[in-house]
Amino acid sequence: MAGILLISLYNEFNLGVRQMVSELRDAGHDAWMLCLKQYRKKELAPDEEWYPDWQTELPPNGGRLVLSYPYPLSDCERELFKGLLRKLRPQFVGLSVYSAFVPSAIEVTRLIRETLPDALVGWGGPHVTLDPVSSSEHCDMAFVGECDVPMVELAHALHHGKDWRQVPNIVWRENGSIHRQPVSPVIKDLDTLPFTYFGSDGAYYLEDDELVEGRPFPSSELNTCFKIMTTRGCPYVCTFCMLSFQKEVMPDTTRLRFRSIPHVMRELEEAKARMGHFFLEIEDDIFTTRPERMKEFFQHYRERIGMPFWCYTHPNYARPEMLEVLKQNNVQFVVMGIQSGSDRIANEIFDRRVSNKTLLEATRNIHKAGIRPFYDLISNNPFESEEDRIETFHLLRSIPRPYGLQLVALTFYPNLGISRMREERGLPLTVDFQQYRFWNSLYHLASTVELSDGDAEYLLNNAEFRRDPSLLERFATHAKAWTREIGDLKALNQTHLQEVHRLADRVRALEEELTFIKARRGFRQFLWLSEQLRHLKHKLVNWRSLIHAREEGPHKNAGARTDSLREKAISPLCNQAKKLSSS
Ligand code: SF4
Repeated sequence: MAGILLISLYNEFNLGVRQMVSELRDAGHDAWMLCLKQYRKKELAPDEEWYPDWQTELPPNGGRLVLSYPYPLSDCERELFKGLLRKLRPQFVGLSVYSAFVPSAIEVTRLIRETLPDALVGWGGPHVTLDPVSSSEHCDMAFVGECDVPMVELAHALHHGKDWRQVPNIVWRENGSIHRQPVSPVIKDLDTLPFTYFGSDGAYYLEDDELVEGRPFPSSELNTCFKIMTTRGCPYVCTFCMLSFQKEVMPDTTRLRFRSIPHVMRELEEAKARMGHFFLEIEDDIFTTRPERMKEFFQHYRERIGMPFWCYTHPNYARPEMLEVLKQNNVQFVVMGIQSGSDRIANEIFDRRVSNKTLLEATRNIHKAGIRPFYDLISNNPFESEEDRIETFHLLRSIPRPYGLQLVALTFYPNLGISRMREERGLPLTVDFQQYRFWNSLYHLASTVELSDGDAEYLLNNAEFRRDPSLLERFATHAKAWTREIGDLKALNQTHLQEVHRLADRVRALEEELTFIKARRGFRQFLWLSEQLRHLKHKLVNWRSLIHAREEGPHKNAGARTDSLREKAISPLCNQAKKLSSS
């Protein structure tokens, strides 16, 4: 059988890599996976180098927080990696590559070539699908799109000594020219695929000068979270999103593909048996597309799994009946893309197909359902005019608070619709970061504090804040920290309340059993059950007092504190600035 090593860079969950490891093992091959360094964020110092390919969050303090920062390999990690290659001696090594990790992937490829000159090296993943031609410069073959079928075909070809150039979905260079194999149809029936591989055998983790097999590092989220996809695809074609490009190269991904609910439940039950408790992250691009399917999902989920979870929704699918189902089933929060508050940017540039009216209605539905929301917004966008930014600011003011705002910089990945548009219009790849600090602090402020029309006008027209927004940033940072703290406490309370209900049910059941045993069975059983009951009641009292203490504790007035921020802080802030600018 063929020996295949698949490497995930800076992402231990990488469902794509784990899925292919599973498929290769199912087909009888020796498949291993290596998680080469963990996902870690890094806040850059003001003078630190930044690359436009890095996915960057824009926190309220005016900094730049690189999500999944590509920390370089240390000398020790390079040696450990080479040692693993010598031990496994795979015939093929595949790397999953995102645009931000291209330099790291080039280095890893060089290390593979030095250690195993006969092994083939392939690149796959989002960056390679977007730009297979330039990717093929660095490896033997670049894989385009979903590669469930091609990867297994490659393993068969290697095992039988056949020509790998016949494998579908690949692009490679030979004798100075570029060759391509056509893209194979995607798998329509997702139930025919095995579950994502989260086993320990043949799973390696390398981080902080240490290589371990079989178990993730104690700091890893793999120990507490489980991720699953119940569908593949998305009905939309947002120009900044990788999925819209995938539809161009794989037209049969236009339709959403669904796994059956029993198939999903079996995978979740396996995870529950392995992990006990976990926090579920539902990775479907939009989980709330079909109400009937959601109801069926939760009928089973409630009974058989019952773990807290979060999921993505979309403004066109955040309807009250769907949100109610989520709420009843212990959803911790939902994430929804707003992306721009300007109708022009959202629809002409991003092709979101969502009006501001629908968007606001969706946010009100989420608020009414009592679900904690996080909204994604794209800033630092060279397509925007002053009017677009003002429109975004006012939209953020109108969304019901509290909500979390996840602000990121627009990234132009190669060949995406938006990147082609940028080139056609001759726009720059990055914006004036300093100019956007003013806008980003206003966005964060609007998401946390109620601003009157007068205050909003004043802030928008204040030349001093535009020149130096640091005062606004300091204020927004504190306001946001409070909002987050309140949200965290509410979520914790909700979880504890559920635990109280669960324990109360258990106490009731034991009391009934006790009465029955007292009447029918022996004294020893009666004593044992009494002890159980006493223990549970004690636990119940503790939980209740914990909740009571929190409700009465220092955060009792936190909501009111945030509400009065405007009077207590924003207005004096504006007055202070007025004085400064007039003196
Ligand atoms: S709705 Fe989300 S997942 Fe779908 S294309 Fe748009 S950004 Fe991508």
